[in-house]
Amino acid sequence: MGDVDPGLLVNSLMAAFSPLLPWIIPAVLFALVIAFPMPGRGPRSSRRDRWRVFKYGARVEVMARADWRCEGALFFAWGRCPATAEQADHVFPWSKGGPTVVSNGQALCAGHNRRKANMTPPWWYVLALEKRRRTYFPQGASVRVQATMTDADHAARLRGGRR
Ligand SMILES: [Zn+2]
Repeated sequence: MGDVDPGLLVNSLMAAFSPLLPWIIPAVLFALVIAFPMPGRGPRSSRRDRWRVFKYGARVEVMARADWRCEGALFFAWGRCPATAEQADHVFPWSKGGPTVVSNGQALCAGHNRRKANMTPPWWYVLALEKRRRTYFPQGASVRVQATMTDADHAARLRGGRR
């Protein structure tokens, strides 16, 4: 192995890959676009909220507006999971600064919660969730995902979690 010419190695690697380049570049671009988060909706810092889990009124609100049914998609971004919701989950993960507020909450079944783990949702995940919500959210409830804490969210906590 000591007498392998590094220049020659690079050249032969390039020769092997160059026919693939016209495919690799669009594939990488496609992957970047698919993974891109929704602009303007995520947390403004990665500082973790002191509240780790949804509780009291916030939990009830997240679960009730989904009628205690999972808000996950049936297949990628289509359809709605038929399972009973078991957890109030963070759309933008708590571990990455997503606050424990109703506008960053979604009701999920155990399976969807496990699969989502601490993934930052891409733009199409958020859009598809909001689109589904328009079909089942109660009148007047905002379907918008927003991972920032408002003054109203803060005040609700001081009142003991009731909104
Ligand atoms: Zn589900």
